[in-house]
Amino acid sequence: MSAAEFDDLGDRQRPHLIVVGGGLAGLTAAIDAIDRDWQVTLFDARPRLGGATWSFARKGLMFDNGQHVYLACCDSYRRYLNRIGMTEMSPLSRLAIPVLQPDPSGAAPRLSWIRRNGLPAPLHLAASLGSYRYLSLGERVAIGRAALAIRRLRLDDPHLDTETFASFLLRHGQSPRSIEVLWDLIALPTINVRAKEASLLMAAKVFQTGLLARADAADIGWSRIPLTQLHVDPALGILTAAGARVHASAKVSEVLLDDERRRVTGVRVDGERYFADAVVLAANAESVAELLPAEAGVDTAGIDALGNSPIIDVHLVFDRKVMDYRLASGIDSPVQFVFDATESAGLDPERGQSIAISISGADEEHGERPEVLIDRYRGALAELFPRVREAELIDGVVSREHRATFRAGVGSQRKRPGVATDLSNLVMAGTYTDTGWPATMEGAVRSGALAIATLAGVQPFSTTPSLLKEAI
Ligand SMILES: Cc1cc2nc3c(=O)[nH]c(=O)nc-3n(C[C@H](O)[C@H](O)[C@H](O)COP(=O)(O)OP(=O)(O)OC[C@H]3O[C@@H](n4cnc5c(N)ncnc54)[C@H](O)[C@@H]3O)c2cc1C
Repeated sequence: MSAAEFDDLGDRQRPHLIVVGGGLAGLTAAIDAIDRDWQVTLFDARPRLGGATWSFARKGLMFDNGQHVYLACCDSYRRYLNRIGMTEMSPLSRLAIPVLQPDPSGAAPRLSWIRRNGLPAPLHLAASLGSYRYLSLGERVAIGRAALAIRRLRLDDPHLDTETFASFLLRHGQSPRSIEVLWDLIALPTINVRAKEASLLMAAKVFQTGLLARADAADIGWSRIPLTQLHVDPALGILTAAGARVHASAKVSEVLLDDERRRVTGVRVDGERYFADAVVLAANAESVAELLPAEAGVDTAGIDALGNSPIIDVHLVFDRKVMDYRLASGIDSPVQFVFDATESAGLDPERGQSIAISISGADEEHGERPEVLIDRYRGALAELFPRVREAELIDGVVSREHRATFRAGVGSQRKRPGVATDLSNLVMAGTYTDTGWPATMEGAVRSGALAIATLAGVQPFSTTPSLLKEAI
């Protein structure tokens, strides 16, 4: 046994868990484990933690790899924020989205709001949708019928995963225009594919939980500080204070099994073996599919077949304030959602405004050169916010995430594994697992928590001092 192996054994009186991957799923699993007084060692292949949520510095300002928002119904993610002491840094605001449409004649853009009032669900949206000016009266009336039909869907009905959301909407009297300027406005940023591709199951989950169950469920929150400072730094503080060992730039290459190949004994990293009582695979789907031993009994081909959907963010820094809203959305414009990121960028609002334009389902834009995207989105932004024309662009940068989320199309549900495997001390975590949610921060945190709850239920893991001796 090497020194590294021995060193990693730590306190033998407490169960020892290895977490592979330090995104939100892995960080949640690690924190939940130390909260149970387990020892934790976490490995992440990259030099930084945070996985799909991370920040970078450029010319004295901070940018996120992608604007991240959550809804009030994201209970598990909110629990994570609370546990790491960051609730106030990512506050919720009442649902109120200004939806802007450029005027082709160059006149001021048109404006309509999607916002809730104080009435109980689903009436909380009725007034704003009833006056949604981009749809005809008939189209607006039809929205209510489709909403009620969505509300009646049973999320445990497997047929929901065999139809697209768009086909369901068309069957329920929605026009193609209504799908484009209303339903996709919500479906695209939450599911990361358009209604014409999205599984009805994922859409039903989003609309039932986020919009139709509780009046305040879709109140929106996002971070006032860079995502790394929000999600990672405080989590690292908690973990290291509890004695957890966190290794970045440490790619796990193999999950180790005992001689009978019935239990996991640890992992291999850079040629070294690290032993533990249990392992949580919280890496992204592709890595997990590669790492899973056949004995885990997981359909890795199904995980691979989930595929990916990209997200791009175009960050534009202007020398002055060009947008008065904190967030807005565009229709008949390449701009889907746009955020005022001045505060999280660390930019003095007296000296300019940092804008993040978020493009979900960005298959077409993904291969475009940054200067092309910056030019296109600056022009599109100017059509929605005319002050952009007079403003000087101080900086522009594009962040791309090719594998931002799994592709939540028809049939995706049956490809998503549960967190448990046939090896009782090996569990998975990550948004691709069957959380019931699309690939979101909520899904990631849920899966991490579920992974630990699953392990805790596996006897004797949580009650015997350690199975390390077996491994030795
Ligand atoms: C641009 C963008 C915008 C988004 N917007 C939103 C949003 O507005 N709202 C929302 O809720 N969600 C959003 N999401 C989705 C959300 O960020 C992700 O679903 C979530 O963060 C995924 O967390 P995870 O822990 O499951 O996986 P990941 O974050 O992918 O973490 C996996 C980790 O495993 C590590 N790893 C991989 N292989 C190995 C290995 N062999 N050994 C060790 N470590 C390994 C990786 O380095 C990574 O850190 C967005 C995502 C992106 C990319």
